[in-house]
Amino acid sequence: MLKIGCHLSAAKGYEHMGKDALKINATTFAFFTRNPRGGKAKAIDEEDVKKLLELLRENQFGKLVAHAPYTLNPCSKDEKTRDFAYMAMSEDMQRMEYTPGHYYNFHPGSHVGQGVEKGIEMIADLLNRVLTPQQSTIVLLETMAGKGSEVGGKFEELAEIIDRVELKDKIGVCMDTCHVSDGGYDIIHDLDGVLDEFDRVIGLEKLHAMHINDSMNPMGAHKDRHAKIGEGHLGVETIKNVITHPKLKDLPFILETPNELDGYAAEIALLRKEAGE
Ligand code: FE
Ligand code: FE
Ligand code: ZN
Repeated sequence: MLKIGCHLSAAKGYEHMGKDALKINATTFAFFTRNPRGGKAKAIDEEDVKKLLELLRENQFGKLVAHAPYTLNPCSKDEKTRDFAYMAMSEDMQRMEYTPGHYYNFHPGSHVGQGVEKGIEMIADLLNRVLTPQQSTIVLLETMAGKGSEVGGKFEELAEIIDRVELKDKIGVCMDTCHVSDGGYDIIHDLDGVLDEFDRVIGLEKLHAMHINDSMNPMGAHKDRHAKIGEGHLGVETIKNVITHPKLKDLPFILETPNELDGYAAEIALLRKEAGE
């Protein structure tokens, strides 16, 4: 069975996310570890987390894919922003241990004119300061659209970051279908070719999760505007090819389409049907 779900609000707690997931027939989900645009994290309610863990077990959920705040930028020019990245990610690593063994995804960062090499160095440096051998969480670099000075729009850039990270078993990649297409990878006509390239440059064993989004823009646009499934340039067929691909089908698939819960429920139902469930 597909492990598929969407971004869920953490505002009402952990167990509440699990119940929302069940309502829409999801078997994984994503959530922000803290306010996506701000910084402060709510204190963790251990009882609430325990209830979620039980719910996940009872309903055969796949791995969850938590998302770091958008404001986390390890390669900012501004020291305060870099300090926040360190503070937020280290604290998030501790928070993630309440839900052991899941994934934590982040946007590698924007180098804001300092150059991609400098950006890569700073991102790897943050990871080397934050990651510990004891942690059970695998941190995922997200493939980016290459908008502005974003690092991670090319597989080579992600490979270079991973190359510099000391604790290799704590680092992986989350591929976003909107972002890779915007980044210039032709998953519409040549998904196999893109996956071969990923394997050659990064290694498919590093690919742990997928963000499943349609794109409002054509391949190579570097825009990063998500569309609902079937309402963008990728189309249902491309998304179907992704979720049923023999090399991908067992990964957690997270929808980040512009939807409320009922819209997500409909997309999950559609994709389960497309996958032959
Ligand atoms: Fe993201
Ligand atoms: Fe994404
Ligand atoms: Zn995006």
